[in-house]
Amino acid sequence: MKVLVINCGSSSLKYQLFNMEDKSVLAKGLVERIGLEVGMLKHMPTGKDKVEISEKIANHRVAVKMMLDALLDKNHGVLKNISEISAVGHRVVHGGEKFSDSIKITDEVMTVIKECVAVAPLHNPPNIIGIEAARELLPDVPMVGVFDTAFHQTMPRYAYMYGLPYELYEKYAVRRYGFHGTSHRFVSDEAAKMLNKPIEELKMITLHLGNGSSITAVKNGKSIENSMGFTPLEGIIMGTRCGNIDPAIVPFIMEKEGISPDKMNNYLNKKCGVYGISGVSSDFRDLEDAAKKDNPRAELALKMFAYQAKKFIGSYAAAMNGLDVIVFTGGIGENSITMRQMICEDMDYFGLKIDQQKNQVRGKQADISFDDAKTKALVIPTNEELMIALDTVALVKTA
Ligand code: AMP
Repeated sequence: MKVLVINCGSSSLKYQLFNMEDKSVLAKGLVERIGLEVGMLKHMPTGKDKVEISEKIANHRVAVKMMLDALLDKNHGVLKNISEISAVGHRVVHGGEKFSDSIKITDEVMTVIKECVAVAPLHNPPNIIGIEAARELLPDVPMVGVFDTAFHQTMPRYAYMYGLPYELYEKYAVRRYGFHGTSHRFVSDEAAKMLNKPIEELKMITLHLGNGSSITAVKNGKSIENSMGFTPLEGIIMGTRCGNIDPAIVPFIMEKEGISPDKMNNYLNKKCGVYGISGVSSDFRDLEDAAKKDNPRAELALKMFAYQAKKFIGSYAAAMNGLDVIVFTGGIGENSITMRQMICEDMDYFGLKIDQQKNQVRGKQADISFDDAKTKALVIPTNEELMIALDTVALVKTA
């Protein structure tokens, strides 16, 4: 069975085609700069040369068509016939309170996904456009929606409510949703397998640290807290997002700088975080290089990131009344030896002790804790696309 996974952003489309018999990737690629003057398709078929096509890509429908043509191409394609695609899994950022699991897409489901735009005006519209384009071009292929928020729907009410008037929750569904759920679910399942223990008996903290970073408390296999909130802006300081700040700072800056709500939202999402602090970059490789050359603001940004991650670990251990394992994933979690070390430093109170030798690892599964550490520390590369493909197969098979 071959499953295509699609992840649409506002001007991009990422895809991976899986052979689900052995979970191998047959091809993956990226369509960028959709709607701009010059767009680009980068297609990477496994075992064949990579292809790049640069031309105007008017909209997402054209992008989906280009992706299908690339998959079918007689030179760099990996399919003989489009009918070989048995199902399509779509990443959808926000499922609001409507979706606590992945779901097979029907017209009724599309209506509900569109209703979720009210709480995710920036994130859901491109996902919807991608699904509509794929349904139009592959009308007979079953499709599944997998939501970033779904895993966190198990959070208790007292964890997801904000200290705002209750009417705001009733009127506008303002509450914590949490994000990166597909990644947190994938790595928590993998962590239980690595430790050879039932997930139902584990208290875990999964740290998805990348351009966007979020931290989840996973108790007995269920998410009970996630550091992101109503939007993916809340939580730990990120590449360009501010994370937690005093809300009173927002109107203060808007007034001082004469910024509109739209501009302020853009500012908090794109100009802040470790980029805003360091003035160097949002990329941790650049920050680590700059810190080695004694750039004080790059050093400060890294220290802030590690300190905030530490504080989340402490508070989530308190929320779960214990901690068996922490998991590092995402571009930083999987690759930054320095950041893992900084986060785990002086955490012996929590039973966390990482082994410097074992920590010299990048991009592969590893236990980096000392054998006698009470709390284990694992590195687990995330694979949201595979998780989406697995959910897609499960739902298509039971349909
Ligand atoms: P993601 O959003 O999960 O793809 O993560 C991307 C981020 O991971 C980049 O912006 C870098 O900050 C970080 N990253 C990737 N590789 C490394 C590395 N070798 N060392 C430190 N940070 C890295």
